Amino acid sequence: MRNAVFYSGGVTSNDASGTAICSAKGCRQAAAWSVVWNNPKLHAPERRKVWLACEEHRQHLADFLDLRGFLIGVEPFRPGSSDDA
Ligand SMILES: [Zn+2]
Repeated sequence: MRNAVFYSGGVTSNDASGTAICSAKGCRQAAAWSVVWNNPKLHAPERRKVWLACEEHRQHLADFLDLRGFLIGVEPFRPGSSDDA
């Protein structure tokens, strides 16, 4: 059972709650921004959806939502905040 020594507890994973990835399609960069939006046709007015964005995609995602009238705002990403916060 000598192999067990490799399992030291320092494992990182994309499933860890501290890891947030940009929502842009195909992007694997860490999120730096929360793009907050709501689709009035699908969501109650108080409902807030959040896309995470890296520096590169923040403007792209915000523009996409703004064009459709969905954009509420862009905030600095705070690890631990959730979709339903
Ligand atoms: Zn990105």
